[in-house]
Amino acid sequence: MRKRSLAEIAAARGVRDERVIAALRTVDRRDFVPAHLVDEADRDEPLPIGDGQTTSQPSLIAQMVEAAEVGADDRVLEIGTGFGYQTALLCQLAGEVVSVERHARLAEAARANLAAVGCEARVEVGDGHEGVPDAAPFDAIVVSAATPAIPDAWVASLVEGGRLVVPVGGRGGQVVEVWRARGGRLADRRTLVPVRFVPLVRDR
Ligand code: SAH
Repeated sequence: MRKRSLAEIAAARGVRDERVIAALRTVDRRDFVPAHLVDEADRDEPLPIGDGQTTSQPSLIAQMVEAAEVGADDRVLEIGTGFGYQTALLCQLAGEVVSVERHARLAEAARANLAAVGCEARVEVGDGHEGVPDAAPFDAIVVSAATPAIPDAWVASLVEGGRLVVPVGGRGGQVVEVWRARGGRLADRRTLVPVRFVPLVRDR
């Protein structure tokens, strides 16, 4: 039997947005995993990327990116760059992508991976809790690490109607929440899927 592509797997898991499916076809995940794991890259599984971190399950990334409703002219903030796989998908979908990563080594790897495929995302080293204020506002924020509470800085960084997609919960497990910014607050909460993300680390 022919192996299913990540795009086919994501579609089977309910991802309907044709632009997201096309992005999954375009971005080769082998370009965003450590060299010794390239043979695993086509599997719909999280993979270790060093520093105790993982690159997330592709079908889950696809669901979260779909929920962010990224338009072609949108400015998007990703929190938790890792090796840059989701960043590259966002590059296919958005007008401008900014990403913030706490580990300098991972940010450096992501920059190299993204440059190699021509994605012009701006990757910052920093604490995602603060967002990237000098690049705000954003039409959507996608968070790739789990937090028990949503920082005010994210809400303040969204345009009216902007979307926030974030795994909320503690180490035991989380649920992906999707919010919309309305009048300077978050509204219209819906939940997407139960997940287990690495924690959004607070250094101070
Ligand atoms: N978007 C990535 C997911 C990487 S895993 C992908 O496509 O696979 C989550 C990442 O969040 C890790 O690289 C981790 O180092 C980073 N992270 C954790 N806490 C953070 C923080 N406070 N600020 C920025 N990045 C953080």
